[in-house]
Amino acid sequence: MINSIQVLVVEDDRSVQNLIATTLKINNYPYTCVSTGKEAIQQCTSLHPDVMLLDLGLPDMDGTEIIRTIRSWSTMPIIVISARSEDASKVQALDLGADDYLTKPFSTEELIARLHTTQRRLSYLKRGEAESPVFHNGPLKIDLSLQEVSIHGEIVHLTPTEYKLLKLLAENVGRVLTYTYLTDHIWGGGISSDKISLRVHIATLRKKIGDAETDTPQIQTHMGIGYNMIRYAPEGTPVNSAENP
Ligand code: CA
Repeated sequence: MINSIQVLVVEDDRSVQNLIATTLKINNYPYTCVSTGKEAIQQCTSLHPDVMLLDLGLPDMDGTEIIRTIRSWSTMPIIVISARSEDASKVQALDLGADDYLTKPFSTEELIARLHTTQRRLSYLKRGEAESPVFHNGPLKIDLSLQEVSIHGEIVHLTPTEYKLLKLLAENVGRVLTYTYLTDHIWGGGISSDKISLRVHIATLRKKIGDAETDTPQIQTHMGIGYNMIRYAPEGTPVNSAENP
C-alpha cells in the first residue's frame, strides 16, 4: 500500500541520503531528495510535501534558517536530522518549531517510527480532534472545558502548573518541546522558570498519571533537550486504525 504522505528529504551527505531513500522506498513512501537549503525551500513551495526530513548542516545554509523560513508560512511537520555534535542547534531547531529529531547514526526502524508518529499526528489534526474540548490519548482523557483529567476513567487531581504542563504537551502531542519552550509557556520566563523546577513538576505529573507503572507512558524524556507526549489511539481502538486512516 502506498502511503499518503509525501516526504521531502534534505540531506547533502550522499550515503545518509541513500539510506533514507532506500528506507522510504521499501516502506512505500513517496519522496523527493534534495541536497541544498535553496532546493529545499523551492521544493516546499512547488511540491507541498507533508513532512520534511531536514539535515541541519547543509552546504549553502544552516538548517535552522530553513525552519525559520518555512515556519513563516507553513506548519508542515519537520523532523531534524543532526549529528551528535550539533546538540545546541538541535535544541535551537526545536525552539524554532521543528517537531522531532533523529540523531546520526540512526536506524531505519527509528526513521520509520518517527514517520509513523508524524502520520498519526497529521491524521489527528485532520480529523479536527484538536478543536474538540475533549482530548483522548490512550487511557488519558483531558476535558479542556472542565479542566478535568482522568486516566482509565479515574479523575486525577493536578495542580494548576501540572495541568498547564499536561495541556501544553497534549496540544503538541508527538512533538518534542524543549525546556525553554516549556518554561516560557508555563512561567513566561519568570523567576521559577528553571529546568530543575520543570523536572520536579514533570516528575510529580508523571507519578499522578501513573506513567511509572505502565508500559504505555504518556510523557517521554529527551535527555538534555525536553519532553514530548507520545501519541496513542484512544482506549479500545487498535493503534493501526490511527496509523492507516
Ligand atoms: Ca550535512
